[in-house]
Amino acid sequence: MYERSLYVFGTLVSVSAWTSDEAAFDRAVDQIDRRFQSMHRDWHAWRGNGELVRLNQALAAGESMRVSDFLLPLLIQGKALYDASDGLFNPAIGRLIALWGFHDDEPSGGLPPDPGAIAKLVDAAPGMDDVSIEGHRIRATNPWIALDLGAYAKGHALNVAIRILHELGIDNAIVNAGGDLCVSGGHGGRPWHIGVRHPQGEGVIASLDARDGECVLTSGNYERYREYAGVRYAHIIDPRSGYPVAHIASATVIARNGALADAAATALSVAGAPLWQRIAGRMGVDEVMLVDGDGRVYLTPAMKRRIDLTPTGGARGK
Ligand code: ADP
Ligand code: MG
Repeated sequence: MYERSLYVFGTLVSVSAWTSDEAAFDRAVDQIDRRFQSMHRDWHAWRGNGELVRLNQALAAGESMRVSDFLLPLLIQGKALYDASDGLFNPAIGRLIALWGFHDDEPSGGLPPDPGAIAKLVDAAPGMDDVSIEGHRIRATNPWIALDLGAYAKGHALNVAIRILHELGIDNAIVNAGGDLCVSGGHGGRPWHIGVRHPQGEGVIASLDARDGECVLTSGNYERYREYAGVRYAHIIDPRSGYPVAHIASATVIARNGALADAAATALSVAGAPLWQRIAGRMGVDEVMLVDGDGRVYLTPAMKRRIDLTPTGGARGK
């Protein structure tokens, strides 16, 4: 068993593999490092001069831009997931995310943004349906659009890492970015046993065996937030109101496509108890766990069959 850690996407990413070829493992991790660093540069929505920054500048100026083979599939998938989530997953709300200060490495405290400014951005209703894709050319019909891939790029990247490992002959691996992970194979004939981190602090709330090719993604309210007068404002924003989601603590989704699992986890955090089952169905994910602000756990039947809730994990109720 080999393990190496990288620092990228603002988090520690660990790559573990069960293999006899240490040299191949090292080459794979070097490649993953290079690919992740370039994704971080090019897909950053507001820093530097990467591809997404240039695209956002072009769209804001009413111009179109040709994008690379790397960015294009993510934008195509972003449109599809936006539709499937009824717009609850909306990577076109970059301006709202910036307004709330979640573009800073450490979100500042202080007063929430001016309600008038929030309302203006909500009324402008930027959505992925305002983004048109013809070949590699991207255009926006709404000048308020700013793309932010923060809710699903990490999931996509985890799939890419597993693919790079496969290409170098490593078929038993786990790539873990701060609790979000994808796996291949197992170790010594046993499946990878993984923990789902507790949304409200340390420790794991549940554990499960991850199967070959699966990704497990969690979106949580409690990880990144700003606080003012005792109120926490989480970095997941409800595009319908322009305000951070307050009702749900976390959503965990298992799917083979990491970007889908990541986007669904974000969308289901927004959807909350009244809507999550419908949105999960529309997005085509059936292994979902939701934990609400009171620590109540909601499971789909498929998730219930394979997950073990930690008795002391703080989950109360059903
Ligand atoms: P985490 O990084 O904790 O896994 P998410 O996957 O939910 O969390 O991603 C949160 C990020 O996605 C935010 O920092 C912001 O950049 C972006 N975002 C926030 N709300 C939405 C939304 N409703 N739809 C799409 N992207 C969002
Ligand atoms: Mg997400």
